[in-house]
Amino acid sequence: TVDKEKASNVAKIKVVVRKRPLNKKELAKNEEDIIETESNSLVVHETKLKVDLTEYVEKHEFIFDAVLNEEVSNDEVYRETVEPIVPIIFQRTKATCFAYGQTGSGKTYTMKPLPLRASRDILRLMHHTYRNQGFQLFVSFFEIYGGKLFDLLNERKKLCMREDGKQQVCIVGLQEYRVSDVETIKELIEKGSATRSTGTTGANEESSRSHAILQLAIKRSADCSDSKPARVIGKLSFIDLAGSERGADTTDNDKQTRMEGAEINKSLLALKECIRALDNDQVHIPFRGSKLTEVLRDSFVGNSRTVMISCISPSSGSCEHTLNTLRYADRVK
Ligand code: ADP
Ligand code: MG
Repeated sequence: TVDKEKASNVAKIKVVVRKRPLNKKELAKNEEDIIETESNSLVVHETKLKVDLTEYVEKHEFIFDAVLNEEVSNDEVYRETVEPIVPIIFQRTKATCFAYGQTGSGKTYTMKPLPLRASRDILRLMHHTYRNQGFQLFVSFFEIYGGKLFDLLNERKKLCMREDGKQQVCIVGLQEYRVSDVETIKELIEKGSATRSTGTTGANEESSRSHAILQLAIKRSADCSDSKPARVIGKLSFIDLAGSERGADTTDNDKQTRMEGAEINKSLLALKECIRALDNDQVHIPFRGSKLTEVLRDSFVGNSRTVMISCISPSSGSCEHTLNTLRYADRVK
């Protein structure tokens, strides 16, 4: 059918890189932009020292599905990444969009506007193309911090996860809001984002150690009325991952920081393995490697789609982290 074709035209895995502009701090330190971009490739110019301490530049080239430079707006990011997958979640597809990168590289800046734009399109489809077909939209928003789950729409209440044996993941007690207008969704996103960042040690510090997961679920009630519980048809998950450099906090003096670092490291490695398994149509998906991949289990089986947005800083001072981010993205691709 036309619908099936539409779904198969969307790549299973898409890897996109987004480069942000140099910020004031980097400009003040006279740091240079070392990233040269083309439409689907980029070159990192790494300055290195010879034994005699003279400088030379080593170039690293990478090719991705798309490279978005510092002039690309959030609207264009949406069109390139999420817009193509919105229609197929009405065809029983689960899709996930990740933002990966070091703290300060633009993950939250990139991810925060996406769910609102997506829900606008979802509601439009529900009210026009799928009018009177019993579809409903639900929003939930939670975070994984130190391997534990917290509800961002319910005062950071601690949550537990359960599997029902049919590859369905259930997060016990997670608040799900049924929404039918963009304004309400906007308020929920604002509320959840504020809950996430008001930690004890300052906004970016705290949020850089957690994965924030916002899910839009499309459900449908069997008899097109509200009398029976609706079943999940498709899902779109937006994941603002912990700062990738945090996975290296495994030798820190503070025990808590070390534990969190180990957990982040484990989850980012497990995520990479799961995406690769998905891409190779592997039957066994190694989702048990971490809390993050366990929670996303139902999005790694069957008919699913993944978009990875790798966020990078352009500055010479971030060269090492940027190369790590690009190598991770290159392995996923
Ligand atoms: P992260 O979530 O990866 O730690 P943020 O999204 O908080 O990083 O971005 C760090 C800072 O850089 C913020 O002040 C943000 O507004 C700014 N920023 C990030 N990406 C862009 C961009 N593409 N254009 C302009 N400013 C950006
Ligand atoms: Mg952030």
